[in-house]
Amino acid sequence: MAKKPTDETKGIQAKDRYFLHPWEDVTSIGAEARTVIAKGDGIHITDSDGNRLIDGPGGMWCVNVGHGREEIVEAVAAQMRDLTYFSPWSATAPPAAILAERLAGLAPGDLNNVFFTTGGSTAVDSALRFAFFYNNCLGRPDKKHIISRVGAYHGSTHLAASCSGKMLEKANMDMDEDRVHLIPNPNPALRPASMSLEDICDQKVADLENKILELGPDKVAAFIAEPVLASGGVIIPPEGYYRRCHELCRKHDVLFIADEVVTAFGRLGHYFASRDVFGVEPDMLTTAKGLTSGYVPMGALFISDRLMADIKAAGNEPKGFFSGFTYSGHPVAAAAALANLDIFERDALLEHVRNVAPHFEKRLQELADLPMVRDIRVKGLMAGVECCLNPEEPDDERDMNFLLEVDEICQDNGLLLRPVYSSAVLSPPLTITTTQIDALVGILKQG
Ligand code: PLP
Repeated sequence: MAKKPTDETKGIQAKDRYFLHPWEDVTSIGAEARTVIAKGDGIHITDSDGNRLIDGPGGMWCVNVGHGREEIVEAVAAQMRDLTYFSPWSATAPPAAILAERLAGLAPGDLNNVFFTTGGSTAVDSALRFAFFYNNCLGRPDKKHIISRVGAYHGSTHLAASCSGKMLEKANMDMDEDRVHLIPNPNPALRPASMSLEDICDQKVADLENKILELGPDKVAAFIAEPVLASGGVIIPPEGYYRRCHELCRKHDVLFIADEVVTAFGRLGHYFASRDVFGVEPDMLTTAKGLTSGYVPMGALFISDRLMADIKAAGNEPKGFFSGFTYSGHPVAAAAALANLDIFERDALLEHVRNVAPHFEKRLQELADLPMVRDIRVKGLMAGVECCLNPEEPDDERDMNFLLEVDEICQDNGLLLRPVYSSAVLSPPLTITTTQIDALVGILKQG
């Protein structure tokens, strides 16, 4: 049973009223007393009352190497002592240059141009801006439409949010609706019983081609896709879907942007899932989160050599990509990312994920026997356990509230979950062991 809130915790919760949290209901600011997380070590976090919990969401899909890594702390402190900041417009610094080269070496295909950003949203935003810039440079000013998918999440800046496919969250936010078009996502669980996985794959690939043809290939700039839809509830595409979408984009001269903010840096057992899991070399790739394991904010957009060569060959003016951030390639963030990558290598973390992922999946699939569990989706170390109190009558709000109760019980028993609509989403630190997976699933079963 969890320890009761101390006066100190209540004091922090009172101050927290001034912190407008992401996604907060502005009509009831501060109404919810949030758990106060005070410490982290390995796959665990400890709240301010001393309750130790397994960090089920790994922060927010990001604490990939686990909490409390002294190597990263040291690298950050050392970099701060040497140099905290410089202008990336006028100069460069060792960690940013070294990181860019190292990342280009790890990235798929010819994604050799690393544009550093402050996080995932700004990486996606930059990719979309680059797609517009690219077509302007190539003398194709009408080729500006973007295709995304229902249930996708691409971030919280205006353009990135416009490309998201979570309708509830777009309400009242005046999105860029003229240029963004959503097609259905390839959730195999939603197919009719008569439909095979191959059929649904054909259908969802056709949805993309039909949308390109409906808008006109000369009007479509890019298709943006997460290899596995993360915040949409961990939706895993049927075999071949991602690759065939990429082929279609090539056929119709549409840029393929892989949003690997979640799936890169080991979540699926590889540095980048596009190439190593799904066999695709995208035109642009966005990432963040696991790049620094959340120790310091940083994101990156990778742009292919091919796109740069096209712009050069077109020869039009202006050629400057007038986009960038004060903190592009921030030396401290770059130092954190380098230390993070060192841990991946030294601890053979990708191999570890590939070894424990089958156990994670097997243990989670045991929950399928529970009456309220509707679907279990697992890929690498990411999972969505979808719940429905009455499968005859799915009700998002009721099922979401039910999951919030499950989360509370799990927290009392030592596990933090992340309820997303009617799915409990899990993305623990990649260092999780099979014994720790057993403990996590044991708590979920009690919940
Ligand atoms: N893209 C995907 C796939 C994400 O899951 C997220 C965040 O969860 C983002 C982009 C936005 O990243 P950030 O919150 O770092 O801006």
